[in-house]
Amino acid sequence: TKQIYDFSEGNMKMRDLLGGKGANLSEMTNMGLPVPHGFTVTTEACHEYQQTHQLSKHLLNDIDQAIQTLSRQTNKEFNGTSHPLLISVRSGAAISMPGMMDTILNIGLNDQTVVTIAELTHNERFAYDSYRRLLAMFGNVVYGISEASFDQVLTDTKNAHHYESDLDLTVADLKQIVSHFKNIYEISDKGVFPQDPKEQLLAAINAVFDSWNNHRAQIYRRENHISEELGTAVNIQEMVFGNYGENSGTGVAFTRNPSTGEAGLFGEYLLNAQGEDVVAGIRTPQPVATLKASMPDTYEQLLDIANKLETHYREMQDLEFTIEDGRLYLLQTRSGKRTPSAAVKIAVDLVGEGLIDQKTALLRLEPESISKMLHPEFDLHDLKQHDLLTTGLPASPGAASGQVYFTAEDAKRASDAGQKVVLMRSDTSPEDIEGMIVSQAIVTSRGGMTSHAAVVARGMAATGVVGAHELEVDYERKIAKIKGQIIHEGDWVSVDGTSGNLYSGMVKTRDATIKGELSAFLNWAKQNSKMGVYTNADTPKDFQKALDFDADGIGLTRTEHMFFKPERLLQMRRLILAEDLQGRKDPLAKLLQMQQGDFYELYKLAGDKEVTIRLLDPPLHEFLPHDEKEIQAVSKQTGISPEHLRDRINSLKESNPMLGHRGDRLAVTFPDIYEMQVQAIMNAVIRLAGEGITIQPHIMIPLTDSQAEMAWVRDLVTKQIKQSSNEKSIKVQYTVGTMMEMPRACMTADAIAESSDFFSFGTNDLTQLTFGYSRDDVGSFMPKYIEYGILPADPFQTIDVEGVGELMKIAIKKGRKTKNDLPIGVCGEVGGDPKSIEFFEEIGITYVSCSPYRVPVARLAAAQAHI
Ligand code: ADP
Ligand code: MG
Ligand code: MG
Repeated sequence: TKQIYDFSEGNMKMRDLLGGKGANLSEMTNMGLPVPHGFTVTTEACHEYQQTHQLSKHLLNDIDQAIQTLSRQTNKEFNGTSHPLLISVRSGAAISMPGMMDTILNIGLNDQTVVTIAELTHNERFAYDSYRRLLAMFGNVVYGISEASFDQVLTDTKNAHHYESDLDLTVADLKQIVSHFKNIYEISDKGVFPQDPKEQLLAAINAVFDSWNNHRAQIYRRENHISEELGTAVNIQEMVFGNYGENSGTGVAFTRNPSTGEAGLFGEYLLNAQGEDVVAGIRTPQPVATLKASMPDTYEQLLDIANKLETHYREMQDLEFTIEDGRLYLLQTRSGKRTPSAAVKIAVDLVGEGLIDQKTALLRLEPESISKMLHPEFDLHDLKQHDLLTTGLPASPGAASGQVYFTAEDAKRASDAGQKVVLMRSDTSPEDIEGMIVSQAIVTSRGGMTSHAAVVARGMAATGVVGAHELEVDYERKIAKIKGQIIHEGDWVSVDGTSGNLYSGMVKTRDATIKGELSAFLNWAKQNSKMGVYTNADTPKDFQKALDFDADGIGLTRTEHMFFKPERLLQMRRLILAEDLQGRKDPLAKLLQMQQGDFYELYKLAGDKEVTIRLLDPPLHEFLPHDEKEIQAVSKQTGISPEHLRDRINSLKESNPMLGHRGDRLAVTFPDIYEMQVQAIMNAVIRLAGEGITIQPHIMIPLTDSQAEMAWVRDLVTKQIKQSSNEKSIKVQYTVGTMMEMPRACMTADAIAESSDFFSFGTNDLTQLTFGYSRDDVGSFMPKYIEYGILPADPFQTIDVEGVGELMKIAIKKGRKTKNDLPIGVCGEVGGDPKSIEFFEEIGITYVSCSPYRVPVARLAAAQAHI
């Protein structure tokens, strides 16, 4: 099979075979953009290599051919004596893994060709600068010699001459550095630097294939759920030189601002520099906009290309470019990483510009990333109580506080110990990835908006501030200095990634709101979905939050939560402890008073949105005191003797309370509790009717497992409703439905539907009972089950399609056989899980109900499931 493609042969659809970088280099070549010539070795060749650990004869032969073609295309010769060809060897997987794998530049240089090039270009400095770069990259990538050992030589040379930057290095310095670098090879004992360009090339290709399995690439793949099997392609490309002089440079640019989504070219470059210099933060780069003044033609061309690419890909692009002696070259394009809020703005703007449609826009965002946009902002009032330490570049928005650590390892350790951490460094590199993952915020003193720290922070939606120049990190003493002030390891700081400000201490936060593009975006999601998105809310505050997030109503109010406030708990306890019916009357009357107020508030907020109220669910002993101290206190409050109390508590104890006397079983044995709750609902409805607001109550019965039981409880509920409405002689429309959370209920759903106006799957209990996993005890074994792959995921977080899902299908089919338009919801934890929502759409679920903060996530997931 063909294992090598010239850039002129591929296209952007061939990602899997050519990797993202290769496919896009081909696409750009075919668009007629200025891309240096080159070719791609396929990911299939990588697969073969992973098996045999060597390059096949067939491939070696094809590489020779391709190099000859490249010589012809460039009029240069590999190891040539008049025009030596220099190339880069670049990794590039199907899914972009920025900075995770290896690239080597300037291959083809050796002790002879460096002289030839120096003479040819009359630019000795450039030739030796390229050579020292090759020696360092090759040593690091091929032999694993630490980058630091090469950097140290550079730093020492600069210090010895009091140079400010690497630009001050003279030809003599560079020649000396080259010889130092060769020494490093010798000392390291890992191999000599091969003078034969061909040997350099093959070693580099091997190293790139090997880099697929290096530690940081593995971590990145795990973190981003990228398959181990994809493999990487290798791109071999003629070099162009940004380190040719002051009329040359290298840079990266985004077609839109990756932090805010703002339209317009956004990027940075360094003059007289090569390759990774910008990203590595060697010197502080300049904003691309300044090119407009210094190289207007080049700037115009870059702008033009950026527009072309964005229109062509219909997506925000992240470009790499190099200017060699005034001439512009494109070296890479890919869809740019961005913060969730930038992603929303860009998607909405692209729709506005007619480049994509609403549905495409909705599919461009991970539902989960929406929740990251709902992160809190700093409370402006509290902010005034804290010192502004310094300001850097606003690299990744958000507001986060944590304790400062200066190395990735220390940050990881502190985070493992349960601390919230802020990673503070002069700059970051791919080795720091583990520490960055666990950090609330990342702060660096060097680097620009496209530095490694900035890119990674945005990718992870972590708060990020970079290039805070006043900050001086002293790794040895584990401190940072800001204008004489000292930050010690473990000190609290607060980071505002939207303004770039760094504050001392922990600043209070407040909730974010949905506005602007996000609200438009979520509206589209609503219009493009079939499933309703309701919220689980027990208090007006939670409900209001969910309404702010545009919930369709309440899918589940857990009334028991209303009984846990102190004065209510007292009445609840008096009720449970009462000796006879007479003794229950007074606490019930008091509870009625309080509960009808709760329902009134919720209904009032709801307006014409639906509110589903579930009647009491947990076992009664949950309301009773648990230890001696509490028993003494309750005894004082209720006047019941401690002995008697202990007896009552013991008599209510159950060996399996979750399978015991709870839910509608309580209604059968203590009907007065449900009667009180229904009366409370009705009183609230009647009061609102007096205010001219019509409410249709939806009452939900928990734990039903048979038709007879449902019929019994329904009868209890409807009698109370009728009694209340007759008393006030008003007519109330209502529904009475059931939770579907018992396997037996699912199996007999056709019968249960006869007494039920709606179903709502309580997936927590249903999962618990289907697996036979006590959901309060799974912690002891679930992690191992997931680690060993016995379970694909925690079924309490993502629906178990095969088992629980099958029961749901049965229940839906049977339920709708009896009533073909039966509304069926889901109100368990998985109701807010995007993957589960996809399944729910498939099986015909009417609505999901989830916690308020999950509402926007579920909304987008519902739209994506429907599109
Ligand atoms: P990564 O995937 O880590 O970004 P790249 O393969 O893109 O690695 O290369 C690293 C750097 O070297 C980039 O800045 C890129 O633009 C630059 N580079 C790669 N090939 C060439 C080339 N042929 N000429 C000039 N610069 C190059
Ligand atoms: Mg790159
Ligand atoms: Mg339940």
